Amino acid sequence: MKKNSPAVLQAFIEIFFPRQCFGCETPLKFYEINLCLDCQIRMPLTSFHKTKKNLLFQKLELHFPIENATALFHFEKEGVLAHLIHLFKYQGMQKIGLFLGEWLAENLIESGSFQNLNGIVPVPLHPAKKRKRGFNQAELIANTLAEKLKIPVYSHALKRIKNTTALAHLGEINRHKEVQNAFLRNPSFSSKPQHLLLIDDVFTTGATLAACAKALRKNSEIKLSIAVLACRL
Ligand SMILES: [Zn+2]
Repeated sequence: MKKNSPAVLQAFIEIFFPRQCFGCETPLKFYEINLCLDCQIRMPLTSFHKTKKNLLFQKLELHFPIENATALFHFEKEGVLAHLIHLFKYQGMQKIGLFLGEWLAENLIESGSFQNLNGIVPVPLHPAKKRKRGFNQAELIANTLAEKLKIPVYSHALKRIKNTTALAHLGEINRHKEVQNAFLRNPSFSSKPQHLLLIDDVFTTGATLAACAKALRKNSEIKLSIAVLACRL
């Protein structure tokens, strides 16, 4: 009887405080974790991690040399994923970022291609924007991946020296112009040849990742792989 106590206690707690689905807020069944089955099947998974030269890889390699690239989801303007990303980025629900980050980590491990990485670099927010939001969403994902992949996070490898205007309203060419020279490799970060995983939350045109890659690779033989939560292609 004593052996079953935690499960009994958990069931008792859930009567009064039922766990809710992150997507639709309905109470979760005992076998559901974070999302109900209904929401789970509506998540637009890419399965890019199973194909080396996937669509994201092809788009990124036009901008800079990469080893591997993957996105967990196709971005959608509406639906469960859009709701989750909104809660994570704009409502500060960091536990959603942790859950999605763990899901992305499972993909990377399953793929077998994201090995021999020396560390993880999150796309930095400008300090003013980070103060306003309270956290950097890419850094939170990077920390979750680092724990699962057992490699370090280099949060200060890049500095964002320009507080770019909201990129969502700009076209592809203007986005590239806006983020050009927005990043610098931190002078204290090693320029020795190594393989880094660059992380962002949403890929749109590749302008931000290309600007980060340019800064990291300047006068250095750093190799890059890319992982993002969602991509618009
Ligand atoms: Zn749901």
